[in-house]
Amino acid sequence: MKNAEHFMQASHHSGTIPKYKSYSLHNYRQIQQIYKLSEEQLFEIEVVGRVFPFKTNSYVINKLINWDDVPNDPMFVLTFPQKGMLLPHHYEKMANAIKQNLAREELDGIANGIRHQLNPHPAGQMEYNVPELYGEKLTGIQHKYSQTLLFFPSQGQTCHAYCSFCFRWPQFVGMDEYKFAMRETDQLIEYLQLHPEVTDVLFTGGDPMIMKSRLLAQYIEPLLEANLPNLQTIRIGTKSLSFWPYKYLDEHDGPKISSLFKKIVRSGKHLAIMAHFSHPRELSTRAVREAIRRIRETGAEIRTQSPLLRNINNDSNVWADMWRQQVKLGCVPYYMFVVRDTGAQHYFGVPLVEAYQIFQKAYQQVSGLARTVRGPSMSATPGKVQVIGVDEVAGEKVIMLNMLQARKPNLVGRPFFARYDKEAIWVDDLVPAFGEDKFKFER
Ligand SMILES: *Cc1c(COP(=O)(O)O)cnc(C)c1O
Ligand code: SF4
Repeated sequence: MKNAEHFMQASHHSGTIPKYKSYSLHNYRQIQQIYKLSEEQLFEIEVVGRVFPFKTNSYVINKLINWDDVPNDPMFVLTFPQKGMLLPHHYEKMANAIKQNLAREELDGIANGIRHQLNPHPAGQMEYNVPELYGEKLTGIQHKYSQTLLFFPSQGQTCHAYCSFCFRWPQFVGMDEYKFAMRETDQLIEYLQLHPEVTDVLFTGGDPMIMKSRLLAQYIEPLLEANLPNLQTIRIGTKSLSFWPYKYLDEHDGPKISSLFKKIVRSGKHLAIMAHFSHPRELSTRAVREAIRRIRETGAEIRTQSPLLRNINNDSNVWADMWRQQVKLGCVPYYMFVVRDTGAQHYFGVPLVEAYQIFQKAYQQVSGLARTVRGPSMSATPGKVQVIGVDEVAGEKVIMLNMLQARKPNLVGRPFFARYDKEAIWVDDLVPAFGEDKFKFER
């Protein structure tokens, strides 16, 4: 693996913690000084990066990407825009506009036109999940499943790098009407007092761990001080362990994050770090292993999840390896998701039958401690729908499914059957088996 230690040293500050440097369309050509990309590759990055969010950083490019394997390297595909992410006619349109040197506003206009054709808000997030408090919409909260509430702190709505496949992509490209965010916890606390069924608050984004400890504490401490008897678990969804593990090792903020985590644990709440890992490579550096060790030392638990992604991790051995390493490091495998029906689904999506086969082949290779994982699961409008098998029942080939979560609680844990379809890539593509006209969740 080509390793540009000298590149890291150029941006060194204290001790062994390198300085964070991000790369986006404005400066990504600097990467060229160390790692060679052809003019054609650079142009493709620009074309696609005008439509989808693009941000990577010094840790990702120096420690995660294997440049000898670019453009196929999974960590390269993870953060660099890929030509195939745009449909051919969209790609041509943007490429021509750039070649004609159109003004920035015109390019943005074209980008927005394309974005609106890519289902920017899947699973009814805007219509169904935004709750109200005394008639006022709480745009920084989503409450879809009774027990677990999503909270989007306004200061945590970016990430250390952007995943090329991210389903939250619209909020990173300035489609502001699609931004979820809330500044204060007051309304969150009031809402939790009025909703005793909620046991879990999941801080999400973006990446809440982009915040310095002091900011994060401003959101979390009031929650602890409010003494909410129903609040059992605080979850923090993050990809910081993959994209910037130094967050936890930094000599100034690292110990403060640890104290905040310890404070949550000591208050009697369960703290679950919902870590996003897409490939075993992300678990391979000394930095991430040390960061995981420090988090676990606080009494927090780390659970892991990722979508199954063509061109990144669509291989059962990759998943088995990843789950084994996670268990070895003390993490708990939690979800394997199916790529959502938005953005570049045509590039990253894996058909449901194939997804199930990859899941099953990986699952059968690992010990029971890794079989805490559930998947492949679709976060769809009616709920989280898991593919649990492909089989023949009463002479008909079927796909078996199960609701892991449902907007209607009485549907949770109720298996159902769809007609076998090798091409189906999302729940909308499925039709009920056995001649039924509707699925249970449609009735
Ligand atoms: C996945 C998800 C949750 C959390 O569900 P768990 O199964 O408890 O992890 C909560 N809200 C939404 C909208 C989700 O998609
Ligand atoms: S870290 Fe999470 S929110 Fe951020 S780009 Fe990746 S998947 Fe999206």
